[in-house]
Amino acid sequence: MSTITEDQIQMLLDENCCHECEGVGKDNICVRIEAIAELPTRFGDFQIVAFWNNRDEKEHVAIVKGDVLDAEDVPVRLHSECLTGDVMGSLRCDCRDQLEAALRMIGRMDKGIVLYLRQEGRGIGLINKIRAYSLQDQGLDTVEANLALGFRDDERDYAIAAHMLMSLKVKSINLITNNPKKIQQLKDYGIVIHDRIPHIMEPNEHNIFYLETKAAKSGHLMDLHGKKHLEEQSDRPIVEGMTTDQIKEMYG
Ligand SMILES: [Zn+2]
Ligand SMILES: [Zn+2]
Repeated sequence: MSTITEDQIQMLLDENCCHECEGVGKDNICVRIEAIAELPTRFGDFQIVAFWNNRDEKEHVAIVKGDVLDAEDVPVRLHSECLTGDVMGSLRCDCRDQLEAALRMIGRMDKGIVLYLRQEGRGIGLINKIRAYSLQDQGLDTVEANLALGFRDDERDYAIAAHMLMSLKVKSINLITNNPKKIQQLKDYGIVIHDRIPHIMEPNEHNIFYLETKAAKSGHLMDLHGKKHLEEQSDRPIVEGMTTDQIKEMYG
C-alpha cells in the first residue's frame, strides 16, 4: 500500500516550515504542517499530520490513509473534537460512533482523510459544553442548553479544513457527509468536490436508538431515556437498516 513517502514528508516539512499566505476565509486562516508520523490503529494503518494555525492554540490533525498528495477524488470526513464522546464513549452524543465509522470506512479504502478539528463543544470549549450538559441534567430544555453550548462558527471550521486539504496538496475530494450544505461551504473556500459519499454507520448497541422511530422527534435525536441529544457534529449519520421514512423524518 502506498503512503506518503519519507521523501514527500521531508518535502512537505521543508515547504511548510516558512509557509505564510493571505489565508482562507474572512479570518484569513493560515495553517502549516509541523509533523508527520505513522499511526497504526485498530481501524487500519494511517499517517497522522499535525498542523499549526494562526488562529488559536489548537493543534488540528489530519488522519491520512494512503498517498493523498496530488490525488483526485480523495474521500474526506470532517470530525469535530468531542472529548466526552470520542475518548470516554459518552452516550450523550454520537461523536464516537461517527468517528469510528469514518475511520473504519477510510481504513478499508486505498486513500482517504479524516480531518480531526479541535472544536470541542462547537468551538466554545469543554467547560462550557459540560455546563450545557449540567443545565440539561437540571431539566432545562435543549434550547437553553444549546444556547449555553453556543452556535458553531462553521466558517472557521471549514476555513481551517480547507487550508489543511490545500497543505496536503489534495487536488479534489469526495466529501463523506449527509449534509449538502457542508459541500457548498467547502467549495466556497476553493476546495474541488466531485462527489458526496453518504455517511452510513453500522448498527450497534449504542447507536441503535437511531433505528427506533422515536429517535427522531421534531428534528431532535432522543436517547433511550427519552432525553434529547445535543448534536455536536454538524451532520448526522445514517445507520444501516434505517428505513427511508426514518431517514426522511430525521432530515425533514
Ligand atoms: Zn497559508
Ligand atoms: Zn460528542
